[in-house]
Amino acid sequence: MLFSDLPLDHRLQNALQLKGFNQATEIQAKAVPHALLGKDLIVSSKTGSGKTLAYLVPAIQRVLRTKPLSKKDPRVLILAPTRELAKQVFLQLRALLDGPGANVALILGGENFNDQVKALKRSPQFIVGTAGRVADHLTDKSLFLNGLELLILDEADRMLDLGFAPQLKHIHAKADHRKRQTMMFSATLDNAELHYLTQTLLKAPQRISLGSAG
Ligand code: ADP
Ligand code: MG
Repeated sequence: MLFSDLPLDHRLQNALQLKGFNQATEIQAKAVPHALLGKDLIVSSKTGSGKTLAYLVPAIQRVLRTKPLSKKDPRVLILAPTRELAKQVFLQLRALLDGPGANVALILGGENFNDQVKALKRSPQFIVGTAGRVADHLTDKSLFLNGLELLILDEADRMLDLGFAPQLKHIHAKADHRKRQTMMFSATLDNAELHYLTQTLLKAPQRISLGSAG
């Protein structure tokens, strides 16, 4: 499957082409069409199979092409287990959003809290971050998720291994409305806590699993 076969906004098509992303990887070919239909997804496939674009493409398409639920609240929240991973996702996202149009905030633990409060006041459409600090901003009321349309958990199994289950549940509870789409990415699925999280956060998810994950 080629990205140009998908009904994507021309700005996103151009950005993908510019970065040399023409042919979708297998996991992207399987996941993106479901994601574009607004379905909840749980995706597992091995490292290096291209899971990041599998969620960034539908996330960007949603922001470019649909009407927001809220003008103030972020539309897409992407959570990653570590600061390093969140930074990488942030850079990939920014690289695909050519021009300053859509506003992205990076919300990491260990960084200045008040600078993040200022960034959140600018009503970013996308937030990429680590769960602990994002949950702190909810508690502080510097962040509201009533208008959140898409919640993405990258490396969900690692987030649970690192003890982020309470923060993930807190974040979910603050963005719990019928219109929210949730996508969960994981290398493994055979984890009791992950199973519980899936049941709590996802609605009738489509499961997409490729080969031996790891
Ligand atoms: P995963 O999250 O599954 O470990 P990544 O999303 O980090 O995988 O992608 C692994 C590498 O593959 C990255 O360097 C990324 O730029 C590259 N990549 C992803 N999708 C494509 C694609 N469709 N065409 C070419 N390279 C791709
Ligand atoms: Mg990944």
